[in-house]
Amino acid sequence: MSEVSQGKRVVVVGAGWAGLGASYHLAKQGYDVTLLEAGSYAGGLVAGWKTAAGRSVEAGIHGFWYPYRNIFSLINELGISPFTTWTRSSQYSTVGLEVESPIFQHLPRLPTPLGTFLYTQFKRLPLIDRLSALPLLYAVIDFDNSEEAWRRYDFVTARELFKQFGVSARLYRESFEPMLLVGLFASGEQCSAAAALGMLYFFILAHQPDFDVVWCRGTVGEKIFRPWLERIEKAGARVLANRRVTDLIVDSHNRATGVVCGDEVFQTDAVIFAVGITGMKKILSSSPSLHSREEFRNISNLGAIDVLATRLWFERKINIPRPSNACFGFDATTGWTFFDLNALHDEYQAEPGSVIEADFYHANQFLTLEDEEIVSLVQRYLAICVPGFREAKVIDRSVIRLQKAVSHFAPGSYRYMLPVKTSFENVFMSGDWIVNRQGSWSQEKAYVTGLEAANKVISYLGEGTLAKILPVEADEIHIQFAKAINKTLRQIGKSILPDFWLP
Ligand SMILES: Cc1cc2nc3c(=O)[nH]c(=O)nc-3n(C[C@H](O)[C@H](O)[C@H](O)COP(=O)(O)OP(=O)(O)OC[C@H]3O[C@@H](n4cnc5c(N)ncnc54)[C@H](O)[C@@H]3O)c2cc1C
Repeated sequence: MSEVSQGKRVVVVGAGWAGLGASYHLAKQGYDVTLLEAGSYAGGLVAGWKTAAGRSVEAGIHGFWYPYRNIFSLINELGISPFTTWTRSSQYSTVGLEVESPIFQHLPRLPTPLGTFLYTQFKRLPLIDRLSALPLLYAVIDFDNSEEAWRRYDFVTARELFKQFGVSARLYRESFEPMLLVGLFASGEQCSAAAALGMLYFFILAHQPDFDVVWCRGTVGEKIFRPWLERIEKAGARVLANRRVTDLIVDSHNRATGVVCGDEVFQTDAVIFAVGITGMKKILSSSPSLHSREEFRNISNLGAIDVLATRLWFERKINIPRPSNACFGFDATTGWTFFDLNALHDEYQAEPGSVIEADFYHANQFLTLEDEEIVSLVQRYLAICVPGFREAKVIDRSVIRLQKAVSHFAPGSYRYMLPVKTSFENVFMSGDWIVNRQGSWSQEKAYVTGLEAANKVISYLGEGTLAKILPVEADEIHIQFAKAINKTLRQIGKSILPDFWLP
């Protein structure tokens, strides 16, 4: 590891996966890192805390899927073991159990997408509906996460895409739309087809084991961020909570020299923003220096989605077949999941009653309800999936409303999303909504973009070793072959009629 000469300062704004990832790597390289977080603790959307009664809660449960290679590599480096083993999951509708997923890596590996197709146990969906997904494979091959592919598919809604490719109404309603609601927090008509294809390929289709998932055996805050923060601070970074950044000071050489945070100014040689869309819009509204740039003003065209995270303590144990469950068909544009925390979290293993986390995505219409109303709605929904919940009594609860919290990959939004490198010499972006070609999503993407931003700082300031970013596992051979042929045909088509059709 090469040491950075004294005095090279970097300010990182936002202490979620992206900001912590950037800060950790830069601090290890010897940079003088200050991490400013608006909230009272680190973690961002993944933060966890204790209730007044001393019970752990968090802003929604977070899964770690098989392709999260960079996060798993960090966990190894930290020498911690926060995760459960790979878990099986179920899917419920208003008429009961619909799907059970095996642990795909335990089954003989088949060329993708055969394993996903053959091993997923559909309880009701007829074969003819499942087969109607086959033509969609063309779009999966055609969408290669390149700039051109995003521009080709981002203006189309996911619903239109599935319709164009002949997906049956039932397969769409019972399989694809629920995946969009849980994976991208929006229903098909509100979701970019590019984002849908990218997300589905990363989490499900690229390789048979990709849908396998582990969960933290407690809150991510407790199990991962607490030990990680200790290491970040030990590496020399200063982590300052309750510091809401409002502006940048920029010199005549197009460089940020200071980060404004209320009355304080933090002098710096480089800045990394690791803030979500809503947070970035707030900074924009108070920052003349960002507001003077079109790329930052364009963030106003981006949106974010409401999420509701509830945790219920029941007086009795209810038998829940699988620890993690996704549900659909309860509300037209809201997806939800529930988790058996007695099975997942160490803290609740010995609890006499069931502890259930139920999270609602795209939960706009629920946020204004009173806690009591939310709790009775959640219990009613749970009882439709697992009848044992009907008679059980709720003895404690936590209701967390997350307004405009998660990134909205709306149709046509790609053109406004920022890349890691901005028009300032020394200001870089990171987070799960930043344009990135590595191909990952959600927490893994946030962490990867944090490392990418750290690498840009290293290249700009010229000292330290670049962070190693693991690529997503390569496409399988037959997919590589199909993508290569498709690309050649596209190039031939383009050479004959350049820019004739809409992308
Ligand atoms: C209910 C729910 C369930 C989810 N489930 C999963 C899942 O199962 N798996 C998965 O991988 N992902 C999941 N996600 C998505 C995941 O949480 C995000 O992709 C990821 O946490 C984003 O990290 P980030 O670092 O980009 O941003 P954030 O976590 O949003 O961090 C940004 C930070 O910036 C801070 N900030 C904002 N403004 C300022 C300011 N002006 N000054 C200083 N600091 C500021 C914020 O307080 C925050 O701490 C889920 C999200 C939710 C809400």
